[in-house]
Amino acid sequence: MKETLEKSFKEIYGRSPEVFAQAPGRIEFIGNHTDYNGGYVMGAAIDKVVMCAAAKRADKKLRFASIKTGEIVELDMDDLTPRKREQNWVNYPLGVFKYLREAGLKAEVGFDFLDISSLPAGAGLSSSAAIELSSAFALSALYGFEADLKTKVRIGKKSENLFVGMPCGILDQGVSGFGKKDALVFIDCKTEDFSNFPLPGKCRFWLFNSTKKHALVDGLYADRHNECMRAAKVLSEGGEDRLLREFSLDDLEAVKGKLTDVEYRRARHVIEENARVLKAEELLLKGDIEGVGKLLYASHNSSRTLFENSCEELDFLVDTLKGFKNVYGARLSGGGFGGAVMALTDETFSEEDARKVAKTYAEKFGQEPKIFTCATGDGAKLC
Ligand code: ADP
Ligand code: MG
Repeated sequence: MKETLEKSFKEIYGRSPEVFAQAPGRIEFIGNHTDYNGGYVMGAAIDKVVMCAAAKRADKKLRFASIKTGEIVELDMDDLTPRKREQNWVNYPLGVFKYLREAGLKAEVGFDFLDISSLPAGAGLSSSAAIELSSAFALSALYGFEADLKTKVRIGKKSENLFVGMPCGILDQGVSGFGKKDALVFIDCKTEDFSNFPLPGKCRFWLFNSTKKHALVDGLYADRHNECMRAAKVLSEGGEDRLLREFSLDDLEAVKGKLTDVEYRRARHVIEENARVLKAEELLLKGDIEGVGKLLYASHNSSRTLFENSCEELDFLVDTLKGFKNVYGARLSGGGFGGAVMALTDETFSEEDARKVAKTYAEKFGQEPKIFTCATGDGAKLC
């Protein structure tokens, strides 16, 4: 991959790159809708990456090339405004450059930039965070700017939230930054602390993407957010406002009469899901993968019954996967209301098994899900 990138860079720009960096995509492992409730989430960095290369220029231009089309987008380094339409892919590294400069990176001259990817874009694997983190590493190194990993993660998120305009939480960039092969990344969304927990190397991930998306997904997402905030407000009564992460099931039971049934169930999902993430940590440290798998199924069941962000297609996939002995656990991964199911399997789960799942699904829904498999991989780094 690096050789192809270097060769293309030379063809496009007529010289060699000065720096190379790469960053992985990610899978939400457990912790569903816990982030905006100040809770806990765990993700896996995967072994598919975006890799980028850059070299300084003698003038003040920035040039971004796409390896797919060979098209070059040329900009002035002092005019950092978001690009529109077919050029909008440039906004990911461009926003990163803007916020690196705001954080203290000194750039007297511009750069040429090219990236290559083994990650499908727009498939829920966060190719966007991967390009942000790889460009944060490459551009920091290019200009000799020293920033710690957490700063780069925050700059990637800021670029996505404010420059691209996508209000994602810290999971995507946090996992792409802090990922490690044969480990998961645990994130405390309140303190933004990151840590790694071991996942045996024999584990694999299989994703079954229903390619279904609820037409009203943005509105449903906002509803869930509001329901959680209302429940937290009631739980906070008499004190300062706190998020659901601060409360236990006992606290929730004590105010049950003051909540609507829907608010109660949303809050219960979040409180129990936070507890499941903490339990997963404990089991991972003991190497109890079967136990972790059961938590994945429990997480899905809670999405299905309490949070109601699953759908018939995802439930069917999880139920089908339950029939395989070499599947430790499965759950919807991501926001829900359509999207993908993630299965954690041992190494004997095969392409043929995955095809069986896809066929059974197609018999019911008329169309096969998209299948993707990967293992864990390292977080962002120079390469
Ligand atoms: P996801 O992050 O789940 O893959 P997003 O919609 O958040 O989906 O991000 C996908 C967008 O990120 C693409 O449409 C493209 O603009 C940008 N992108 C992804 N990979 C690359 C890449 N290798 N080079 C440039 N832009 C990329
Ligand atoms: Mg994204």
